Amino acid sequence: MTENSYDVLVVGGGAAGLSAALMLGRARRRVAVVDGGAPRNAPASHMHGFLSRDGLPPSELLKIGREELAGYGVDILEDQVTRLDPGFTAHLASGRELTARRVLVATGVHDDLAAIPGLRESWGTDAVTCPYCHGYEVRDQPLGVLGTEPASVEHALLVRQWSPDVVYFGHTAPPSEEDRERLDARGIRVVDGLVTALRRENGRLTGIELGERFVPRVALFVRTRTVPHDDVLRGLGCAVTDEDVVAVDAMGKTSVPGVWAAGNVVDARATVIIAAAQGAAAAGALNHDLVAEDVRRAVDAFGGFSPAAERAAAGTR
Ligand SMILES: Cc1cc2nc3c(=O)[nH]c(=O)nc-3n(C[C@H](O)[C@H](O)[C@H](O)COP(=O)(O)OP(=O)(O)OC[C@H]3O[C@@H](n4cnc5c(N)ncnc54)[C@H](O)[C@@H]3O)c2cc1C
Repeated sequence: MTENSYDVLVVGGGAAGLSAALMLGRARRRVAVVDGGAPRNAPASHMHGFLSRDGLPPSELLKIGREELAGYGVDILEDQVTRLDPGFTAHLASGRELTARRVLVATGVHDDLAAIPGLRESWGTDAVTCPYCHGYEVRDQPLGVLGTEPASVEHALLVRQWSPDVVYFGHTAPPSEEDRERLDARGIRVVDGLVTALRRENGRLTGIELGERFVPRVALFVRTRTVPHDDVLRGLGCAVTDEDVVAVDAMGKTSVPGVWAAGNVVDARATVIIAAAQGAAAAGALNHDLVAEDVRRAVDAFGGFSPAAERAAAGTR
């Protein structure tokens, strides 16, 4: 193998990609991780819900992961894969080219935020999406849920688990009469009208503006449209689901032989620990595929000197 050729190329070095690379490095595969350095949860100061790592800064988890990988000889390249050719050759933004027998794509998603002043500045601190990740830290406080799609009502009913003081802002998804009854029954107030800004003072969210109206809140929960970073998968011709997400089996195998995918890029709902588990599962399946190929190659190289071939040549069974 040359310096630029690998058994496995892992595209994306978040929780899913690093976890996959750990499995593959420990399986004594020659592995490269190419990472663009922009994980989805980077705006958050703390990561929650990861057993044994609860409350750790997200960047710290990745730093520990990279240190563990170094012990197994995994190459980590801070770069961007711009194109993958079948077979596989990866073209990097730096101009470097890598070849690999298998590819595992763990490139994540980004959250498409509504163009409301103050939302981007609040994102990851006091405007968040996942109550399991951030609800406990704002428990029993005045919370808001932004209506952006019909499912936002369910989001509000979920967030109610963390505080008795929840306001549903109808915004672009005003609730139906039936939904108003459900929200009302759970003590969730509905504020109709378009949200015009998130007001921030001294670096913190203080409330929600609807024109002249102001509703004090310490945190806003928002369902976002997630955009998968799946260009390289689509470029290879991977099949997609009815929801237009790259299709994978339970172990992360795509429709294209030799290509696996894990984490948010194929499952936007996966939290960090789930993305890491998906990466590990895909790595195990991928390694089995490599073992099968190694055996095929070894049998071919054996040149007919197997007991079965010798018996066949002698006319016996
Ligand atoms: C604000 C916020 C807070 C969150 N907080 C929590 C929390 O507390 N707990 C929790 O469990 N979950 C949390 N999440 C969810 C968490 O972000 C995801 O579960 C996790 O990031 C998924 O990991 P991943 O490896 O699939 O993708 P990512 O972590 O997004 O990593 C993908 C990596 O691939 C790289 N990449 C993309 N394209 C390329 C390319 N072409 N070439 C090379 N590299 C590329 C990116 O730069 C990135 O580094 C939060 C999400 C958000 C939005």
